[in-house]
Amino acid sequence: MLLIWGSKNVNLGIDEFFISCPSCESYHWADSLIVCSYFHIWFIPMFPKSKEVNLICTHCGLKRYDIPFKSKTLDGFEHFRRKYRYPWYTYIGAVVIGWGIAAFILTLILQAVR
Ligand SMILES: [Zn+2]
Repeated sequence: MLLIWGSKNVNLGIDEFFISCPSCESYHWADSLIVCSYFHIWFIPMFPKSKEVNLICTHCGLKRYDIPFKSKTLDGFEHFRRKYRYPWYTYIGAVVIGWGIAAFILTLILQAVR
């Protein structure tokens, strides 16, 4: 059987961040696109892998891609962390497999009790 797996990207939203631009060497607003990637098997989402931000400085136009969505790399991260969560459907595979394992264990326990 052919196993198809990989990762796929989902756009979470567009926003603005106040960043320190390495090109301008000062603080400016930057247009941002927040993207998350998830692992899939047969195109069924299994679990989310990472979130990245793509930034474009509004002052000089410097483009920076795949910046990790973390507090160390972005100012005001806490404000945006709750706003851009992983979509619920990126957990579908993990939930289905978890429920399958739980049902299997419960079946074994119920057979042992009899
Ligand atoms: Zn700049």
